[in-house]
Amino acid sequence: DGRVVVVGGGLAATRVISALRRKKLTGPIDLIAAERHLPYDRPPLSKGVLVGDKDATSLPFDPTKLEVSTHLGRTATGIDVTDRIVRTDQGDVRYDGLVIATGAEPITVPGNGRQLTLRTIDDALTLRKRLTPGARVVIIGAGWIGAEVATAATARGCSVTCIEFGQAPLANALGIEVADRLATWWSGVDLRCDTAVREVLDDGVVLTDGSLLPADVVVTGIGVRPAIGWLSGTGPSTDRGVLTDEFCRTDAPGIVAVGDVAQRWSPRAGRHVVTEHWDDAGGAAATAAAALLGDASPYDPVPYFWSDQFGHKIQYVGSHGPDDTVAVTLSDHGVLDTVTWTSPDGALSAWLGVDRPRDLVPARMAVGRSAAEYASV
Ligand code: FAD
Repeated sequence: DGRVVVVGGGLAATRVISALRRKKLTGPIDLIAAERHLPYDRPPLSKGVLVGDKDATSLPFDPTKLEVSTHLGRTATGIDVTDRIVRTDQGDVRYDGLVIATGAEPITVPGNGRQLTLRTIDDALTLRKRLTPGARVVIIGAGWIGAEVATAATARGCSVTCIEFGQAPLANALGIEVADRLATWWSGVDLRCDTAVREVLDDGVVLTDGSLLPADVVVTGIGVRPAIGWLSGTGPSTDRGVLTDEFCRTDAPGIVAVGDVAQRWSPRAGRHVVTEHWDDAGGAAATAAAALLGDASPYDPVPYFWSDQFGHKIQYVGSHGPDDTVAVTLSDHGVLDTVTWTSPDGALSAWLGVDRPRDLVPARMAVGRSAAEYASV
């Protein structure tokens, strides 16, 4: 067995390593991870950690048992694909197989004032300390992270304002019919839609109309981009993320990419997709490991993600397009209950449920079945 080097240190990295050992890889494995923490889970950071229910979110990962040489606090800086070498800030590492699992990095807005982002456990603990009763918190972006931060900040007694560029929270992701319903959940927040930020200063946020919104804490949650900067033209081909086929293989020999950093070919979607969801980062890992060992089958599931916000669990499966027909149902209390999207050719393309965890698996199967049926018509 040759040497496998895994660059990253999140869910995708740990799952690939476990899968490699399960598949009886006996050769050496090196994990190169920029953070100084052993791998941990990110979804609880904006939920349990931020409200104060938990301080740690460790992933099951035992370097001794898995026989992994773990290099924490070490950053990869490039790849030599010809000589199969990973360059790092602490020297070169030779590989036979390489896993790129460097995740994604938050996007920020201009300005010299302090803006917090939420990607790491250190970010979450720093933010939590500042979410004190009465603190004036300005959240930039009413997306998935913004909604979860707003939930935690209001629960901790902060005075929360959220600036959203779109017409309603998540209008871009889910469409206005659904977003208008979600907006009702934000009643404890000064939510300002159709509003944009020019820059962040020390004393607050300047909007594009020139006005200053004073703030004690500014949190930016306007999305992430795959962490590919360190490759800067030295590794496999990239577009938005590292391009792979449906087996997680890049166009460089012996290199796979998995998780938020990857832009994987999806036969289902007919294009390369960046998913940025927990389920995909974990699920694709077994395929990436198998691909390194030369026996993979394609990975192309119906996409799935969830979000916990304002006391509700949103779950979404599938992928809808701009021309799909949307059908919204409400509960007896007028709360958003389920949403379905149907493509112009009649296939069920996506399903969203609010507080309906038991419906998730059947819904995911229904979306998968429907796509297959309509594809064969
Ligand atoms: P990551 O978990 O980002 O791990 C990548 C690691 O690589 C990082 O530790 C990084 O420091 C390291 N790294 C980066 N560059 C280098 C380098 N050059 N050298 C060495 N190491 C490097 N998804 C959902 O579906 N539902 C949710 O509710 C949800 N909530 C979330 C809440 C938060 C606050 C966050 C941040 C994410 C959430 N997600 C959620 C998304 C989910 O956590 C990610 O999809 C998942 O963590 C991706 O795993 P990954 O291993 O690909 O990347």
